[in-house]
Parts: sequence; structure tokens; C-alpha cells
Amino acid sequence: MKTYTSLNLIQQDLKDGSLTCVELVDYYLNNIEKSKHLNAYLEVYADEAKALAREIDKKFANGTAGKLAGMVVATKDVLAFENHHLQAASNILEGYKSQYTGTAVQRLLDEDAIIIGRNNCDEFGMGSSNENSAFGSTLNAQDENRVPGGSSGGSAVAVQADTCLVSLGSDTGGSVRQPAAFCGIFGLKPTYSRISRHGLIAYASSFDCIGILTKSVEDAAITLEVIAGKDDFDSTVSQKEVPVYSQQLEIKGKIKIAYIKETLEAEGLDPKIKQHLEEKLSLLKKAGHEVEAVSLPTLEYILPTYYILTTAESSSNLSRYDGVKFGYRTPTPANLEAMYKKTRSEGFGAEVKRRIMLGTFVLSASYYDAYYNKAQKVRRIIREQTKAILNDFDFILAPTTPTTAFKIGEHTKNPLEMYLADLYTVQASVAGLPAISIPTGSDEEGMPIGLQAVANDFEEGKLLAFSKHLMNLNN
Ligand code: GLN
Repeated sequence: MKTYTSLNLIQQDLKDGSLTCVELVDYYLNNIEKSKHLNAYLEVYADEAKALAREIDKKFANGTAGKLAGMVVATKDVLAFENHHLQAASNILEGYKSQYTGTAVQRLLDEDAIIIGRNNCDEFGMGSSNENSAFGSTLNAQDENRVPGGSSGGSAVAVQADTCLVSLGSDTGGSVRQPAAFCGIFGLKPTYSRISRHGLIAYASSFDCIGILTKSVEDAAITLEVIAGKDDFDSTVSQKEVPVYSQQLEIKGKIKIAYIKETLEAEGLDPKIKQHLEEKLSLLKKAGHEVEAVSLPTLEYILPTYYILTTAESSSNLSRYDGVKFGYRTPTPANLEAMYKKTRSEGFGAEVKRRIMLGTFVLSASYYDAYYNKAQKVRRIIREQTKAILNDFDFILAPTTPTTAFKIGEHTKNPLEMYLADLYTVQASVAGLPAISIPTGSDEEGMPIGLQAVANDFEEGKLLAFSKHLMNLNN
């Protein structure tokens, strides 16, 4: 079977009868089997997916199929799907099954998408390499000695290795964009509050977003169109109308693009990624667009602000895993307090514990003002400075990551080195703005390079159109 890169192409073949959903699901299941060693899936819903495919083929034949018929999707192990295991790649949720389906997944199903399995990830979304999973690392399909990025690493590899068309991940500080860049696909993090988080396991609630990983801009557009928008189950979701993104993928006229001087001067930036960005910026200029350098003096504070606030929020969010209500409980505790302590000590992995401790520290009475409150204030300044740039420009363009995918084990000894992988992605997360990683090239070893575009609140449509434009400039 040919490799499909967009839903459009699949639906064309479904229409002319040269393809059925059953064949498509078989093809993906076969690819999952062939790429098992990449460890991208924690569970595959083979029988269910096949049964659904048979139903959708019938619906297709009688003209009642939904908008996403033919879209096969994998979901990160943080998204609730009724009666399916859900465990955030953590031992603490061992045996836990979701009692309901979250909004985003339900909306996909309602439009006849097929969910094919649950993807590996960093435990509770905490990580940049997928090495923090209780189920072991996921391998990058381009070079199996390298990481796929994280935390939605399994979801990125699922698309990269052609085991599904689209995957849903979650992005708190870059977890969709960074793995997308490492795996050579698109990764969209919408504006904070654009997609309901009902059914998304919480990591840091004032940052968490569901994100979309795809091989084409069109698929990101149609998926967002289906899953975004108001939802009675999530009081934090925006009530704003959802545009028909898939019909608005053209850039009209000249655009203004800013790049942040300090990002290009950052110490950890790989020179070949810097050069790649500069080449794209000059292509944009040549195409008649305005490209200008701007300054963001607070750049160096973004990463610390992110890690103070997200650890604080996660220490609070993860307090619910106490051995009483969900998943794992230590077998023979001496008393109630020992039960809590041993359950949490045994159930959580090292990185999650590190973050709970850091978060508890920054929230503690004597340090609250010095860290948590201060970081909240810095966050506001970062958002205001970023918005000020976006009042003058349509987009901020930056590398998605300072390096291409690194080797497995390369940064595991030093958490600070690992946190640097998020250098460029956290700005949009701290500011709550939409951002996309666009697969614009690769280095001489064939490792993918992604560029990240950030736009103003709720300008996902513009971001998608720009991504398409940039890809066309490429050719
Ligand atoms: N790598 C970042 C972190 O570890 C981002 C994670 C995410 O977006 N879920 O926090």
C-alpha cells in the first residue's frame, strides 16, 4: 500500500473504491508490528479498530460517514478513553482504566476517526526525550540510537513510522512541538484554552494544552477544527467560535516576521540549526515579506519561570495519586501514613519525584514569595513582551529546538541539560500563545530540523497558513 500523507488523499481513494478503511487499518497494524521495537505504543486496539473500520466502510458506502472517516489516530497515554487503560506512562496508575472518554477523543470518534492505540510518553508528560517512561524509551525511527523527543515521543514516532495518520499529544512546555521537530513532522500547540482538557491528565494546569501531530498542515487544520471549541465539561475552555481552519490555508499578501536576536545568540544553539533558520529567513525576505530582528531581553528568564511554575502546579496536581483512589497501592503498609508514602515512593519515577519536591519547595511558606509569586510576575512580563512583538509582527520564527534529536542517554545524568531542550518552546507556553513546529529540513546526517512559528492568541489559522507557505518556499 502507498504511504498516505494526508486525510484528503485517503478519502479520495476511499471514494473511488481503491481503498477501504479495513485495508487501511490492517496496513497500519502491520506497520505497528514491524516497528514494535521502537516502543511507540503501550497498547494497540487491533480488534476494536478493525471492527470500527468495517462499520465506517459501510457508512462510507451509504454516504453517512463523518468528516474524519479514514483518519487513523493514536493518542498519548494521558488522554482518557472509556474502558481503556490510562496510565501517563507511570507505575502509579498501574491497572487504572478510564471511566469516560475525554472531549477531544470523543469528538474525533464522533466524526468517524479510528483510535488505533495508546502511545508511550514521559511519565506524566515530564521530560524532553521519552526516557522518563515507566515502560522504557521510545526510539527515533530515523536513527534508533536517538531519542524521539518528549514528552509526546511515542505519539511523534507513531506518525513518523507511518503507524497512524495523526496523533494527539499534550504540550505543557513543548511536548508536542519538540518531538515533532525531532521526528520530522508537524506539531501544533494551540492557544491555551482552545481545546477542552476534559479527559487530559493534568500536569501543570495553567500551561497544559492538547496538541496535534501530523504529516500535513491540512490534517492539523481539520483535526483542530473538529476537537477545538467550547465544552460544558471544561470551564477553562474558550467560548470563541472555531474557524473552519481547513478552508483558510492561504497566506494573503505580505507578512511581517520577527526573529528574536537572543535566540540566535543562545550558547546551546547548534550552528547548523542557526544557519537553517537564517536560510529560511532570507527565503522569506526574497518572497517579499518583511523580516526583522527584535530583542527579548527576558529570554533567559523564561526557562526558570517555566520550571518554577510547572513544578509548583504539578506538585499540587499529582497529590491526588495517593494509593486510595487510583491505580497502584503498596501491598503491605504498616499504617495509613506508610501507605501514602510507600505508594508514592514506589509508584512515581525519579523525574516526577524531583519535580514534586521542587514544586513543594517553591510553594512552601518561607519560599512562596521568593519563587512562586516572583515567577508569576515574570510570567506576566514575558507574556506582555511577547504580545508586544506580535502587535507589530504576524509571527515570531525561531528554531523549535537548539539541537537535532540527541543520543539516548546523552542528557539523562544532568536534568539541567535536559531542560535546555525546551529553551525555545517554553516561551509560547509561558505566554499561552499558539505555536507550531514545521518540518523544514534535515541536517547532513538526515536528522530532521524543525522551525517554530508563534502567533497571537487564537491565530491558529494564520499559523497553519504560514506553515504551508513556508513549506512551499522550501521547494
Ligand atoms: N519537556 C518539558 C517538561 O519536561 C515539556 C513537557 C511537556 O510539554 N509536557 O516539562
